[in-house]
Amino acid sequence: MYWEKYSYSKIKSKVFEALSLNTNYRTENILGIPGTFLDADIFYDDAAFLKDAPFLSTLIANPNHIGVHTFGDEHEDFFKGTQQLEKELIKICAEEIFAAEPDSYDGYVASGGTEANIEALWIYRNYFINEFKAKQNEIAVVYSGDTHYSIPKALDLLNINGIELNVDQITRKIIIKDFEQKVERALNERYKYFIININMSTTMFGSVDDIDTITSFLNLLHINYKLHVDGAYGGFIYPFTCCAKNSFTFKNKNISSFSIDGHKMLQAPYGTGIFLIRKNYLKYVCTNEAGYVKGKDFTLCGSRSGANAVCVWMILRIHGSEGWRVKMHGLIDRTTFICDKLDEWGIYYFRNPDLNIVTISSEFISSSLAKKYHLVPDSHHNPEWFKIVVMPHVRQGIIDDFLIELKNEQKQIKK
Ligand SMILES: *Cc1c(COP(=O)(O)O)cnc(C)c1O
Repeated sequence: MYWEKYSYSKIKSKVFEALSLNTNYRTENILGIPGTFLDADIFYDDAAFLKDAPFLSTLIANPNHIGVHTFGDEHEDFFKGTQQLEKELIKICAEEIFAAEPDSYDGYVASGGTEANIEALWIYRNYFINEFKAKQNEIAVVYSGDTHYSIPKALDLLNINGIELNVDQITRKIIIKDFEQKVERALNERYKYFIININMSTTMFGSVDDIDTITSFLNLLHINYKLHVDGAYGGFIYPFTCCAKNSFTFKNKNISSFSIDGHKMLQAPYGTGIFLIRKNYLKYVCTNEAGYVKGKDFTLCGSRSGANAVCVWMILRIHGSEGWRVKMHGLIDRTTFICDKLDEWGIYYFRNPDLNIVTISSEFISSSLAKKYHLVPDSHHNPEWFKIVVMPHVRQGIIDDFLIELKNEQKQIKK
C-alpha cells in the first residue's frame, strides 16, 4: 500500500489547476445549467484569503459531481478538472487501500455510509432480478445483530427481507451455528439469492466479522450470493492497523463492494462516504431516464458537491500512506493505554486490538460518569454498554481525568 505525500503548496496548486479546468460560472457563457456559484452576498469570491484556501475556493465555485466518473467516456464535462481529482481519490482507495487491480472497479463519493450501503444492496437486488429473474421475496440480506441501522433502513426502502444473525454477547462474533442454521432454513423456505453484509468494524464495538468462515460455508453450499463490506467506520483505520493477514481487499474474490466513510476516521466534512465496487455492477442501477445528465446517473443521490471529493483527496495527499498509518497507530496506542488500565482494575470491556473503540460493560461504570464524559450507550433506554471512541480530539489529559474518576468509582463500589 503506497500513495505519495504532497506538500500543502503542491496540493494547493493541484486543486487550483483542477478548478481552472472546470467551466467557470463567472467567466464563461453557461446558459443551460440549473446550477451556479454560491450566493455571492454570503460567499464573496474576492476575499483575499481565498487564493490560499483551495477547499473553500472549490466550495464557492460549486462544481457538481453528479453521476460516476470512473468509467465510460461520456461524462458531464463542465467540471472535468475536479472530477479528475475524484477519480484519483477513488483510485487511491480502491488500488492502494483495498488492493484492486487497475481499471477493475468503479466508485464515487456518496453522501455517507448510509447511502453507500443502500447503493450496494440496491445493485445486488437488481442484479439477482435481472440476471436470475429472482422474485423480490426470494432475496435475503444476511447481517449480524451488531450491524448498523442503515442496513435495515435499506431493506425497508428496497422491499427485500433480512436475516439477522445472533452474535456472542462476549466476543461479539457472529455465532456460526446460528448463521448456518438460518441460511439452511432460508434455503428450505423460498430464498435462493443472498446478499451478505460483512462489518469491517461495527459502530458500537469495533468488532470485525469473520468473513472467511462465513464465505467458506456459503461457497461449500454453492450458494448464489453477493457480499458487501461495510467499512463505513473501519475503512480508514482497519486496513492500516490490522495484522499481515487481511481478507478485506479486492484480492478476496468473495467481496464485491466496500463502503468507507471519509467523515469518520478521516476527519473530512460530512457528505463524504465512499462507495467502491467491482466493474460491471453499476449498470444494474443505471437510471436511463436521466436524459439530461450526460453519461447517465448510477448513484442514489444525484447532484453532489465536488468540494467533498476534493477535500478527501487533499486529506489523503497531505498525509501520504505512511503518514496515515502512523496517525492511526497513534490512536491504537492511546486506546491500548486505556485497556491496560481497565485490565489492571478488573473492569470488563470489549475491544478489538486493531480498532480505537473500547466498549465498557455498564455494570462497571455509573450512568453519571458515562454521561459526564459523553460515552455513548448501546441503547438509551436500558444501556448494557458504554463506548469510548478514541478519536483525534481524545487527548491523554482527558483520558487520565476519566480514568481517575473511574478508578475512584470502583473503590466506592467495592466498599
Ligand atoms: C456510521 C456508519 C454507517 C452510516 O454512515 P453515515 O455516514 O452516518 O451515513 C454505516 N455503517 C457503519 C458501520 C457505520 O459506522
